[in-house]
Amino acid sequence: MKNVTLNNGIKMPILGFGVFQIPEEETQAAVEAALETGYRHLDTAASYGNEQAVGAAVKASGINREELFITTKLWIQHAPTGNVQDDTKQSFQNSLNRLGLDYLDLYLIHQPLGDYYSEWRAMQDLNKEGLTRAIGVSNFHPDRLVDLIDHNEIVPAVNQIETHPFHQRAADQELMRERGVQIESWGPFAEGKNNLFTDPTLSAIADEHGKSVAQVVLRWLIQRDIVVIPKSVRPGRMAQNLDVFGFTLTEDQMKQITTLDTGTSLFFDHRDPAMVSWLGNRRYS
Ligand code: NDP
Repeated sequence: MKNVTLNNGIKMPILGFGVFQIPEEETQAAVEAALETGYRHLDTAASYGNEQAVGAAVKASGINREELFITTKLWIQHAPTGNVQDDTKQSFQNSLNRLGLDYLDLYLIHQPLGDYYSEWRAMQDLNKEGLTRAIGVSNFHPDRLVDLIDHNEIVPAVNQIETHPFHQRAADQELMRERGVQIESWGPFAEGKNNLFTDPTLSAIADEHGKSVAQVVLRWLIQRDIVVIPKSVRPGRMAQNLDVFGFTLTEDQMKQITTLDTGTSLFFDHRDPAMVSWLGNRRYS
């Protein structure tokens, strides 16, 4: 597996397995199958409601902890104690307990909402204490990311953002590169929106390589040095999504995919007040 090296020297597998929207009762079997297929990098979140099942699968697999790269995410803190830093540390411990782990590889602020400066200061402490090998953010637009960097000590190692052929984030990636922040794609297949799996441009490139559209999309992201965490509950697709290191897209094929960019989200707008309020009023600890 190819790795990327984060800004603190930690190595992160460029391809992992995401578990968003896998129901809790199906997650253990899905993660066990993914680990059996060869995935060693897992991506979950407190808000997915399936950390416990991810942890059960890790335990059942018997794989050495050091061979795994495990990410989870902190949901927006509401500070019932009145202290966001204390609550962040408690939420981190809750996630570790659910996962049955004693450290994380990567802990992310899930949303750029609420008092995420206090959350970040707590995460800096967790990182310094060795409880999480790296810390990062998710869904941060460049302005929020730069502000967080400029007013804190530790630069986020990762920003996990919506990135796929219809929302390519080239300028955002460039800014992150300048600031030493690794870009990680969520929704690499745009969850199938815009008929991604039958898109004519992607299908033609896939035919040229004798690969699937899913494999072409993952290969395109990996050739851009973007970390990917595709989700599938089907072992056949898990294997397909992992098998993307034996072919290379040409410069011309990379350019053809560039033409699919719409420059906007297919999911939600973090600057829409209704969405900000909807997200901010969801509670997970
Ligand atoms: P994806 O873009 O990975 O798409 C998943 C969908 O594609 C599922 O319907 C899956 O179906 C299907 N699929 C997977 N592989 C194939 C294939 N080879 N051929 C055809 N269809 C396929 O969506 P996600 O939203 O799950 O994104 C990936 C991960 O990113 C998440 O699981 C999560 O870990 C993370 N994420 C983070 C967010 C954030 O805010 N930080 C937001 C959203 C996601 P099936 O399962 O039936 O195979």
